[in-house]
Amino acid sequence: MNADLHCHSNVSDGTLSPEDLAARAHLNGVDLLALTDHDEIGGQHRAHAASAALGMAYLPGVEISVTFLHKTVHIVGLGFDPDDAALCHGLADTRAGRERRARDMGEDLARVGIPGAFEGALKYVGNPDLISRTHFARYMVEIGVCTDPHEVFRRYLVEGKPGFVEHRWASLSDAIRWIVGAGGVAVIAHPGRYGFTPNEEFALFSTFKGHGGQGVEVVTGSHTVSEYGKYADMAVEFDLLASRGSDFHDPTESHTDLGKLPNLPGHLTPVWDALASRVLHP
Ligand code: AMP
Ligand code: MN
Ligand code: MN
Ligand code: MN
Repeated sequence: MNADLHCHSNVSDGTLSPEDLAARAHLNGVDLLALTDHDEIGGQHRAHAASAALGMAYLPGVEISVTFLHKTVHIVGLGFDPDDAALCHGLADTRAGRERRARDMGEDLARVGIPGAFEGALKYVGNPDLISRTHFARYMVEIGVCTDPHEVFRRYLVEGKPGFVEHRWASLSDAIRWIVGAGGVAVIAHPGRYGFTPNEEFALFSTFKGHGGQGVEVVTGSHTVSEYGKYADMAVEFDLLASRGSDFHDPTESHTDLGKLPNLPGHLTPVWDALASRVLHP
């Protein structure tokens, strides 16, 4: 099974439409796709319809921004009912602070000699409700401040840098409750990316489990090969289902293409086994 359960369309900070994303996944041999836009499920119907037209199975997906121990953590939701009212309200609340944050980022960047970044980033936004740091990064590459988006993040958009604005996202318990309440499974996205100490990571996994979270991404475009092993071990230790997803955003920016990942280690239980009844078959 070639499952890719983490990727982005231009409904959040990806550059492909949901239709083009499904077509590229299908071309790359994906059998089961989930579009997981940030804090937004407005692309779900289009991604599902396009997948169905191609004969590809589909799972509803989302990636929710959460604040845990003063850091931003991402929780992927899979297999939920996209019409669930509490989930839709929760996501709308989570998106609501993004414009203010982006304006503040623009003001911060102006202070270090980069004026007009908010307006510039907006040119790259496909969904006015969902302006992200990625859109700023694309604009700052366009105007030649940096040569690639990773450099923009490193120099400007991460904690301690001049364009970083502290932001309070959803709580971990709320995000899990919205996903599980809508019939889905909650998954810790790319745990290797957060820079937590071992104690903090233990707190994340045990709190997540305590609130009803059930899965963890093991094989993701954001992990190194040694992190595949580390998080495979943590999936066993915490009795979590394992997920696999590229975190694809764009054909040139993303280093992992849709569906082009190693398989999950064979001793883990894939999250899609537990979600068999929620998979939308063409
Ligand atoms: P936001 O939700 O606005 O905070 O933006 C988060 C997004 O920024 C992530 O989902 C990635 O797409 C992107 N991102 C975060 N860190 C980096 C990085 N170091 N290099 C490139 N993109 C990044
Ligand atoms: Mn992103
Ligand atoms: Mn993420
Ligand atoms: Mn992502």
